[in-house]
Amino acid sequence: MSIEKDSSKKLEKEKTNYKVIKSGDNTQFWHDFWIGTCKLKTAFPSLYALESKKRFKVSIRILADEIKWDWSSCPINVGLTTELENLTKAITTIQLQPGLDETKCKLSHDGNYMVHMLRQRIDQTLPVNNQQAMIKWSKLVPIKVTCFVWRAIQGRIPSVVALSHRGINLDSTICGSCIDGPECANHIIISCPFAVMVREMIFKWCGINLSEVNEVVDIEEFAAKWGKQYKKRKRLITI
Ligand SMILES: [Zn+2]
Repeated sequence: MSIEKDSSKKLEKEKTNYKVIKSGDNTQFWHDFWIGTCKLKTAFPSLYALESKKRFKVSIRILADEIKWDWSSCPINVGLTTELENLTKAITTIQLQPGLDETKCKLSHDGNYMVHMLRQRIDQTLPVNNQQAMIKWSKLVPIKVTCFVWRAIQGRIPSVVALSHRGINLDSTICGSCIDGPECANHIIISCPFAVMVREMIFKWCGINLSEVNEVVDIEEFAAKWGKQYKKRKRLITI
């Protein structure tokens, strides 16, 4: 799903995960977050650039009585003596022992993964979620329909504009139905003349006067607040 892809881009692993080292067999020396406050490739970018085997495990680098390096050029010869000393100093505190390294979640106190914590983090990371209205989940509406509305509010339903944003070459992003504007989520559901006609018919049927609607979220918010009778409002939300 595109939402998951976007989330994973912004929610960098190092901000939520960390490794508890035992044998070092299943932890990458440079790419995993296992020591310090960030990944070693971030903390020591110049040394990382000189590394020959960037995906080597911790257990390959830290041996019982030495640290095994594999540089493309010697860091000391290119003026990185201090960085090398700092890195060496940091990792010599690690004592490897038998057992699998464990991946833990930084968001919880005990390191266990909790879905609601990750959800909270995603909400904080994606600015779009802060702008959207709360969806009214009605049991009368199939979940796939509610999900469609939820995605439409965020402009994430399949549309020509969405395809072009993903780098797909298209002759035009104009709506093929009315040829009167870019075919984005708001156009498909709100401003396209066909959508306007259907909406007006539904509101007329329900006896509702709704003058101005600019975005999908406007309809959702209107339905959530409309009328004084709970049953009638619920029916409108369902429609
Ligand atoms: Zn149109």
